[in-house]
Amino acid sequence: MSNRRVPGPTGYRSDFLRSRAWFARRDRWFRKQDRLGLPSACAVCGQEAPSASLELHHLDYQGVSVVASQWRAFERHDDLVPMHPSCHELVHRLIDRDTVLSNQRTRRDATAIAIARVREALISHREQK
Ligand SMILES: [Zn+2]
Ligand SMILES: [Zn+2]
Repeated sequence: MSNRRVPGPTGYRSDFLRSRAWFARRDRWFRKQDRLGLPSACAVCGQEAPSASLELHHLDYQGVSVVASQWRAFERHDDLVPMHPSCHELVHRLIDRDTVLSNQRTRRDATAIAIARVREALISHREQK
């Protein structure tokens, strides 16, 4: 049990997302993005934003494990996607509450569909103004 994968329950995730390992991983992610010359922009609405105002969404929790009671965060770079907190919240509302999205697809697929739906909603909202 020293190197178990994170099961899925949200309790584990919220605990992980408050861990030092995750904050360090987050910083590494933005540094690498910068090194690659890629913009830090919200994957949902497409607007660029400073890293401090973006959250990273997990497409996959495979890189997350617990070793000797410590969280380890070795997610692949492309397992993490930057989003505004408000855009992130909209994506989670869809992924976490839509049973089709949350049960029948991988998290990566569910996220892609959720992002597309949120974008459509954002665009139609903008056109109504
Ligand atoms: Zn956004
Ligand atoms: Zn997320």
